[in-house]
Amino acid sequence: MASRREIFEGTELPPEVQRTSRDPETIRRNVTRVVVLAVAAFALVAIFSCRQLPRSEDVPLHAFPGPFKDAPKVRLIVRQKAQAVNLAVTGPFRLYDGSGAEIPITMKRLAAAPVTFRDRCLAVGSLPLRPNSEDLGRLRIVPEKSGTVEISGQVFPGDVELIGVRGTSTLHVVVHMDIEEYLCGVLAGEVPVDRWNEEALRAQAVASRTYALYYSLRNASDPWDFGMTGREAQEYRPGVSRNAKINLAVNSTRGEVLTWNNMIFPAWFHSSCGGHTVDATAVFTRRHIDALGGAECRWCRQQPDNKYASWKRDINFTVIADRLAKELSDDPEVGPTMRKITKNKPLRSLEVAEKAPDGRITKFLARGPGDPGSVEIRANDVRLAIGPSELPSTNCSMTPGSRYRFEGAGWGHGVGLCQFGAQGQAQDGRNYQEILATYFPSSRIVKMAYSLPERR
Ligand SMILES: [Zn+2]
Repeated sequence: MASRREIFEGTELPPEVQRTSRDPETIRRNVTRVVVLAVAAFALVAIFSCRQLPRSEDVPLHAFPGPFKDAPKVRLIVRQKAQAVNLAVTGPFRLYDGSGAEIPITMKRLAAAPVTFRDRCLAVGSLPLRPNSEDLGRLRIVPEKSGTVEISGQVFPGDVELIGVRGTSTLHVVVHMDIEEYLCGVLAGEVPVDRWNEEALRAQAVASRTYALYYSLRNASDPWDFGMTGREAQEYRPGVSRNAKINLAVNSTRGEVLTWNNMIFPAWFHSSCGGHTVDATAVFTRRHIDALGGAECRWCRQQPDNKYASWKRDINFTVIADRLAKELSDDPEVGPTMRKITKNKPLRSLEVAEKAPDGRITKFLARGPGDPGSVEIRANDVRLAIGPSELPSTNCSMTPGSRYRFEGAGWGHGVGLCQFGAQGQAQDGRNYQEILATYFPSSRIVKMAYSLPERR
């Protein structure tokens, strides 16, 4: 998983209540107005609180859901604003329009057919869609039992939702699949399955299931939960894999998720911490969550195939200054100050502003020549702005100069499960429950009880 940055839209402040004059008549006249304004302000706050999270608030945790009849579905966006896609369905399927009404078709399968969106209607090859259908801007294709769908050459297990994008001739493709099927593609995308120990794979499966469940709960009112790759997603490898190790790791932990105080939390993970994982408050959240509070890890640096057990980088300051100004100028938190500082003049220096108890840098100070002179930035945002290949981890030291020298250990944001550390623990004979207890202290493993045929 690449770093998952939580970006919350800021809440608009309620209108400021006007100052009243000291004149008693004015005070009396304004009392009603003040009360009305205060009530309006309160109402505004209430509305905004429901609709969006204020930036000063925090990651909302979700109560453990259930009971379950079937495995929960996750919605994966696999094509965004595509001009056209090729769609194939391997077996019998049902077709529904945007209102949920079934469109009667009698085809047993669908050979690769182009899907386009024109004049507010989706067209799927030569499929005889009902011309007077209520809503052909959205279609759902539901394969029967063992059927799979193929989208422009990539195979997915699940239903496909085609969503025409209003005002354009493009479409989104969203695959709805059960969370256990999804996890098989995540394990294939996230870890070197062939080399990884079974207990490390089980630990990854439980962390990834928790993470996926968290975001599917959180994004329930959006048209999809997450993508296949990128900063905000777990890496998902398409294809219906029949890898025995993946099936075993997923099946043997079926339905198991981590909770903290009976709440589902975002169980972040990363490649290697370099000796100590970091409290999520230093990277993603403001609210402290014990399960994401950080832990010692003596395993990842001992892994012989961990290329980032220790590293050294020299980076020209001009490169650092350019990338920070470019990548962070639109950041909701530091963007406005960064734009002021770097308007027509480059940054002058980067300093360490704060460290975690274990020595990891948690905040940098970027300093410019003028007024306002500087801005504090979360260290992981600096790492991503400079580039994760150039600055693999913030678990490092920094020596300024015309070229800045960084010496450190690890790769990734450092929150939650350390993948190389999990592998090291498994080699030491620890089971997945012990591995998870190390990286998610105070968490519990809870099982979502649902019946689902095992993948074979
Ligand atoms: Zn580690």
